[in-house]
Amino acid sequence: MALAHNLGFPRIGRDRELKKAQEAFWKGELDEAGLRAVGKHLRATHWQAQKDAGIDLLPVGDFAWYDQVLTHSLTFGVVPERFRHGGEAKPTLQTLFAMARGAVGSHGDSCCDGAHAQEMTKWFDTNYHYLVPEFTADQRFALSWDQLFEEVDEARALGHTVKPVVIGPLTYLWLGKAKGGDFDKLDLLERLLPLYGQIFQRLAAQSVEWVQIDEPILVLDLPQDWKNAFERAYNLLQSEPLKKLVATYFGGLEDNLSLAASLPVDGLHLDLVRAPDQYPSILDRLPTYKIVSLGLVNGRNVWRCDLEKALDVVRHAHERLGERLWVAPSCSLLHSPVDLEREVQLDAELKSWLAFAVQKCAEVAVLARAVNQPDAPGVRAALEQSRAVQASRAASPRIHKPAVQDRLAAIQARDAQRQSAFAQRIAKQRAGLNLPAFPTTTTGSFPQTPSIRLARQSFKQGKLSAAEYTEAMQSEIRHAVQIQEQLGLDVLVHGEAERNDMVEYFAEQLDGYVFTRFGWVQSYGSRCVKPAVIVGDLSRPKAMTVEWITYAQSLTRKVMKGMLTGPVTMLMWSFPREDVSREVQARQLALAIRDEVVDLEAAGIKLVQIDEAAFREGLPLRRSAWGHYLDWATEAFRLCASGVRDETQIHTHMCYSEFNDVIESIAAMDADVITIETSRSDMELLEAFERFEYPNEIGPGVYDIHSPRVPGKDEMVNLLRKAARRIPAERLWVNPDCGLKTRAWPETEAALVNMVAAARELRSGGAANA
Ligand code: GLN
Ligand code: ZN
Repeated sequence: MALAHNLGFPRIGRDRELKKAQEAFWKGELDEAGLRAVGKHLRATHWQAQKDAGIDLLPVGDFAWYDQVLTHSLTFGVVPERFRHGGEAKPTLQTLFAMARGAVGSHGDSCCDGAHAQEMTKWFDTNYHYLVPEFTADQRFALSWDQLFEEVDEARALGHTVKPVVIGPLTYLWLGKAKGGDFDKLDLLERLLPLYGQIFQRLAAQSVEWVQIDEPILVLDLPQDWKNAFERAYNLLQSEPLKKLVATYFGGLEDNLSLAASLPVDGLHLDLVRAPDQYPSILDRLPTYKIVSLGLVNGRNVWRCDLEKALDVVRHAHERLGERLWVAPSCSLLHSPVDLEREVQLDAELKSWLAFAVQKCAEVAVLARAVNQPDAPGVRAALEQSRAVQASRAASPRIHKPAVQDRLAAIQARDAQRQSAFAQRIAKQRAGLNLPAFPTTTTGSFPQTPSIRLARQSFKQGKLSAAEYTEAMQSEIRHAVQIQEQLGLDVLVHGEAERNDMVEYFAEQLDGYVFTRFGWVQSYGSRCVKPAVIVGDLSRPKAMTVEWITYAQSLTRKVMKGMLTGPVTMLMWSFPREDVSREVQARQLALAIRDEVVDLEAAGIKLVQIDEAAFREGLPLRRSAWGHYLDWATEAFRLCASGVRDETQIHTHMCYSEFNDVIESIAAMDADVITIETSRSDMELLEAFERFEYPNEIGPGVYDIHSPRVPGKDEMVNLLRKAARRIPAERLWVNPDCGLKTRAWPETEAALVNMVAAARELRSGGAANA
């Protein structure tokens, strides 16, 4: 019997019940018992949904009050000193939320006054963010949190057969950060391992048979000492109870294949969606006692699985493995929306192409059943349906647009090349723009006030006519322009009042995108995102921003900057197609944006910013794949930027600063000006630009927009002087770190007054005495 199992289920609930309960709890509107009841209800519902879908072995441990990595930190007692109230008492739910969100504004009784939250960062190459464990050199570990055991009891009381899920010791250490002093995290391994022993023993006492140990770092380029540590760790854990399934996902094992295959555990899970090539070679490497779990249903996208194609693999594996075959999604379903059935308004054709977590479980179950009992009811129908879906997609005019494909095929190298080199362009731009030294600007958005949100909502609900809505937005633009003029900024923006989100706003206007109503995925804590879905070839039916920008320009004699989102960011923050490569989708997006840039130029706009906030996060997990990605990603940007004259200045913005690995590609994008985040690192991170001798202009963010704090003028002058030591002063711009949409007007104005004053001080010779 091939067994159907799941690696993890989304915890948010199909109506984002968890988010609503968390937020009510934080506001003091729901008590702890109420919050716990919501969690319990969600877990019960989710187990039942998976079981009903046909999953044999259900995951436990995938539920978290905020984040699964944080849950592990509590489990191991990795609670930084600042959250300990001095004592050794066990952490509480208050501790957990304080670690996640910082102690200020956390729930009622103020745990750990003023302690800042743990750092958050991206979970591998997903858009999920986890809380980074903090380790000290003298770190001790002690079982401090019983959630996993309680949930196992809870599931068993409901009659379920469960498989607890834990993050493996190496991955857990890898994800953390060494704090205070230089030491090697790996030195903590020997101290951490006994905790896994204790956990497995307790689970065994609860009559658990299998445990899933997630070690996704096995798909990364691992240093040799980490590889060695894998062997050491699992040799030690071998003597502990439970059958162990090591789960890898988000990529292929590649050079770690024999390491993973030879670990003394009872099974190995492979992601055959991301890395189909690992099959079948893995079969020859695995000892014959081991279970092989094949991840064949994509846990990271919304498309239905091509069951027949997957079934070829399952059949082949079943012949070789028999009982030792398990079938699963590629990774935890944490990264897919919950339940397609909720989408009552989606058109039938589109709906027939999609699968969310519940439906993906059913797909996994069908694949297992198709080899266990090929004649079982439902199997044949499911396969026929899958075949029909693939056929309808292959022929659908909604997906395949000859005009877009022809245009793509006609792209020439010179289309991705500005007319002249930067030196010539910048001379013409300077002559035309007539800006002072250290020109000041902002990165695009101004505060999204409650009245803006209300207007957008009323418009969507039909309570506001299109004309009324336009007038409301124009009035916001007037307000933004007026303030910028008063502040004395040099390059103005229209403020993005009309945009709900930098991707969705454009996706809604492009042909080839579709939208769900309930396709929410957890981003972090209570924050969920509902990515737009790329369904077919992408094109721009008409201009998207020209009216707003030209309206804004008509209000001022200063230069107005057009504001667009770049192709890589559009792609990275959407659910992409699976039938064509990311590269092709990026190129289609690039052509659409290129047309917009050209239209803006024709409408008299002299300066256009193309945001690529997600450029760096698109980097593949394996270094060997970077080159290819960077090639197409930079080409896509240049394709957007190269339809215009030399005189038109192209800006880009990236809201982070780790450029060391990609600086050459950033330069290859050949934007005339790039604005980046640097204020929090005290301009240290300009080092990459200095070392590489980045040739174009740079606006290193001089203040952190993530906090309401108003930075003083002198502080910004200091930062700019530091920047001027690394980048020639004539190539420096002055701007905040990122968009101001999450800020309020008073602090925004106060900060910008100081920023403009700082730029003026530098103009009057300040940079020279740096
Ligand atoms: N132009 C966008 C803004 O200012 C950029 C946002 C971003 O990079 N995240 O809001
Ligand atoms: Zn930004």
